[in-house]
Amino acid sequence: MIVVILCFLLQPAGADQVDVVVQAGHQGRPKSCKPMHVKHCNLGARLGTQREQDWTPIVAHAAATELQHDGFTVKYRPADYRGHDRARAAVFLHFDGNSEPCSGGASVGFPPGADRAFVHDWVQRYRAFFPYHFAGENISHNEKTYYAYRRVTTPGRTMLIEFGEMTCAAQERWMEPRLHELGIEVARFIRSELQP
Ligand SMILES: [Zn+2]
Repeated sequence: MIVVILCFLLQPAGADQVDVVVQAGHQGRPKSCKPMHVKHCNLGARLGTQREQDWTPIVAHAAATELQHDGFTVKYRPADYRGHDRARAAVFLHFDGNSEPCSGGASVGFPPGADRAFVHDWVQRYRAFFPYHFAGENISHNEKTYYAYRRVTTPGRTMLIEFGEMTCAAQERWMEPRLHELGIEVARFIRSELQP
């Protein structure tokens, strides 16, 4: 609840143009699916009691707070929302799940026309940070065609981040105590991209 309230406060009232859009993947589902007419109400990955939709708001909130602290305007978005944003950069935050545990790892997705330098800067940075497998770029249909890419206009800095495979116990154990740190890592990356 505290995260939800803080995230609400992070939204600049009435601002269509912001520096950064940060989306917490799956947050608010399944409640948001019916009123928003979402056909495929994907609730995200889980391992035991750990749920992706509980993790992404922690990362997104840490990233948004850090960016605001640096003076950037931030729009925090849950899984489903009305409206369209214009931003200098947008990141959609996720953790992966696989039916065959530990067959995957971290990855990134981006739409056609994305700024590849932006994507590659993150990949390079995260590969140095994440000690497990990096599975690749646009490795799934979802990563190529993510629904929320259409919800924001950026100058190409639009990217979906999968931080790792939470259905892999070893990766899950490494990530779970570092969720806040992952958010800070995202904020540092965006700051380095947006500052001249
Ligand atoms: Zn997800």
